[in-house]
Amino acid sequence: MKRMRAVQVDTVRKPMNIREIPIPEIGDNDALLRVTASGICRTDWHLWNGDWTWIDVTLDLPLVLGHEICGVVDKVGPSVEGLSVGTRVCVPFNMACGHCPYCLRGLQNVCDNYEWPMLTQGSGGFAQYVRVPNARLNCVPLPPEVSDIDASALGCRYMTAYRAVATRADVRAGETVVVAGIGGVGRSCVELAAALGAQVIAVDTKVEALEAAKKIGASEVLLSDGLTPKQIGERVKALTGGVGVDVGFDAVGGHDATLLTLASLAKGGRMVQVGLTTQDDQGEIKVPIDLIVAKELSIIGSLGNPHADYPDLLRLISSGRVNPSRHLEAEVKLEDVQKVFDRMPKFSTNGFSVITHFD
Ligand SMILES: [Zn+2]
Ligand SMILES: [Zn+2]
Repeated sequence: MKRMRAVQVDTVRKPMNIREIPIPEIGDNDALLRVTASGICRTDWHLWNGDWTWIDVTLDLPLVLGHEICGVVDKVGPSVEGLSVGTRVCVPFNMACGHCPYCLRGLQNVCDNYEWPMLTQGSGGFAQYVRVPNARLNCVPLPPEVSDIDASALGCRYMTAYRAVATRADVRAGETVVVAGIGGVGRSCVELAAALGAQVIAVDTKVEALEAAKKIGASEVLLSDGLTPKQIGERVKALTGGVGVDVGFDAVGGHDATLLTLASLAKGGRMVQVGLTTQDDQGEIKVPIDLIVAKELSIIGSLGNPHADYPDLLRLISSGRVNPSRHLEAEVKLEDVQKVFDRMPKFSTNGFSVITHFD
């Protein structure tokens, strides 16, 4: 049996190890990809950290994490039509079934039978090869203008931001926007909202993150370190003529980010919740419900991105209006994944790291 190199989690919160494991077998409807670029996302770190047991996420250890996958089709099962060996593709992290009521309505992001690559044996991206189930649907072919690094951002962070900004918030030119948390998804939200013509205020606890936000289109930045969510809301209002913003994105998750986003909204404002909570909140945050009524605020959840929306997103990138690669911090090797994880708790990553060396 042919083997491949992979970064394996053996025990939650213990350093991961490079292992030689069998190349995944594929079924009739699957494809095997040779991975060419694999992003390292905070979600992988959350899973390694044992988070989200409160929403029934459990790890079937040992496991290979990684869900921001760009690769080349190496093999297809006998029932796969319309996808050929050698095609360059990315894989949405919500691998969908194609036949449940949500998939049939074009909402593959909330598929009833979805699989996450990093929770499905043989599909994690921190490896030389991955198996993609239901390959015709879950492999998105890439135009030549979209690089492997761009494409690795389309498995999760960028497509998540695209849905939050363009679809769920439906941000319009001239609107004011606040983005709380300038990590992977937050940066992508800043860039996309600015590209759509919004005035964007970026909020983060780190000066470097705010400097990065300015370079990708934020018109104002706000250092939140040491301020309460309410104080931040007041400052956002001061930056918007005393009104507050039309749209807020909580791109990080957790008590402070959620409350500061809500506190920043103008009357009638809409907040899109993109970030998930950690061990601190374990899924529940107390929100000012009377204010939500009094100010007619909306709170909107946003998860991933439907496969059906990829053509629009790919066009935005091909045309050069947005550029996921500019969020790149480093190209790394499989051996470096643990080091990147070790920087996650302190939010000391700046941009995203992509594995491009697998040998
Ligand atoms: Zn489905
Ligand atoms: Zn992710």
